[in-house]
Amino acid sequence: MIDTHCHLNDSQFDNDLDSVINNFFLSGGKALICVGADFSSSMKAKMIAESNDNIYYTIGVHPDDCDTYSQSEMEDLILTKSDKLVAIGEIGLDYFHNKLNKAKQIEVFVSQINLAIKYNLPIVIHCRDAYQDVYNILKEYAPLKIGVVMHCYSGSLEFANQLIKLGVKLSFTGSVTFKNAIKAKEIVQKIPLDTFFFETDAPYLTPEPNRGKRNEPKNVFDTAKYVANLRQIDVKRLIKITDENAKKFFNIKFM
Ligand SMILES: [Zn+2]
Repeated sequence: MIDTHCHLNDSQFDNDLDSVINNFFLSGGKALICVGADFSSSMKAKMIAESNDNIYYTIGVHPDDCDTYSQSEMEDLILTKSDKLVAIGEIGLDYFHNKLNKAKQIEVFVSQINLAIKYNLPIVIHCRDAYQDVYNILKEYAPLKIGVVMHCYSGSLEFANQLIKLGVKLSFTGSVTFKNAIKAKEIVQKIPLDTFFFETDAPYLTPEPNRGKRNEPKNVFDTAKYVANLRQIDVKRLIKITDENAKKFFNIKFM
């Protein structure tokens, strides 16, 4: 199985990164995507991908860090990429953490979308309390020339359907296993099987039954099992389908 979004580059993994990676592959994991959120974490993601088999990486500046963004720095990161770069992300809008700098967030988001289009890379979107603005921006680019995924989707079913109509994919973290995630549970049951895949967002959002502990990529199986149970589908079949979705989306060729 693929963990399509984790932060192995987070300092919480500095002391035991190798064993976290080993635990994932020993549990049957096939590939990991290590996600950047600013310049230095993007560089670190690249380093981790380059020194491990079956680990890929993304580069991007998260909306919380939009003040640190430089377009030329980002373009340099793309031009010096390794063949394991699979997407630009996580990028997007976050009005939950800060709604006073909306214009700046939008400027940085759009700049990174344009770079992704220029270099033909899919994008991984972080969106919190900003679905309408993200949707409006994406709509301006329709029909989409690049893959777009909403990471850790937590919006409404209505937005999910609108986004899917645009060709956007959704990805789900361990938060769907949380008791109060009623909307997400409904969405993950109703949307077509070819429109989503799984991630951990480790070290955050640990799925049940380990909620509260530090998250790690091997827990992506718990989220898949939980959703398979909700959808009344065999977990192996679900993982096969969502892995195919992810491989196609990120243009990962293996297995
Ligand atoms: Zn993340």
